[in-house]
Amino acid sequence: MERLPTVFLSHGSPLHAIDAGDAGRAWEALAASLPRPRAVLIASAHWDTQLPMLTGGAALQTIHDFSGFPPELHRVRYDAPGSPALAARAAELLKAAGNTPAINGCRGIDHGAWVPLKWMYPRRDVPVVQLSVQSALDAAHHLRVGEALAPLRDEQVLVIGSGHVTHNLRDRASHEGAAQPAAYAVRFASWLGERLAGGDRAALVAWREEAPDAARAHPSPEHFLPLFVALGAAGHEARATRLYAAIEAGALAMDAYRFD
Ligand code: ZN
Repeated sequence: MERLPTVFLSHGSPLHAIDAGDAGRAWEALAASLPRPRAVLIASAHWDTQLPMLTGGAALQTIHDFSGFPPELHRVRYDAPGSPALAARAAELLKAAGNTPAINGCRGIDHGAWVPLKWMYPRRDVPVVQLSVQSALDAAHHLRVGEALAPLRDEQVLVIGSGHVTHNLRDRASHEGAAQPAAYAVRFASWLGERLAGGDRAALVAWREEAPDAARAHPSPEHFLPLFVALGAAGHEARATRLYAAIEAGALAMDAYRFD
């Protein structure tokens, strides 16, 4: 059986569930280009815990973890099948690597996961396990979490990190509708693209010191950390391919990468 790549996606706003434009078409094309996975393990920026946690339910309910959006968005559901067996397998791999994971059998799936999955697997017929991030811990921790999960790629599990290349919602409000995207967002996204293309993991892990405008691109780190889960699971030799690049709402870089 074929080894699957890993993926990092910028999931956009909850409204991308209804219209994701070119980003959604890129997510659809990505899923169409891959062998059908047995299951998806997706690390979402919107589940932030002290220790790595996995959804363990056999059926995941849609969590509408946002407010202030139109009522039609609250009617969008992505009640995916879960995979208790994959949750147990991932927990075992994380434990073997020295982590203290836990399985939450009640938690559903948040919009960081279901917005892109709705386009990738609209029939909801691929079982999903969601993995949390630990925003109190650094990139190196998330890289190790990903490395621990690398064997899943040979078990036909698609490992996805779902976050954002840049994620400053205050700037989004002030730059939306501007003629040019915010220069720092362009710089940060370019820096990331170059470091990924060069396989420069040392610089990537030190992103808060090394990347231009890191603090502005990510006032808090939770939307960048899923990248390291995908990168870690891809292995040291992985080659990065950028699948999509755009800056939406003036300051939100929507880039997507796959790692083979
Ligand atoms: Zn988000």
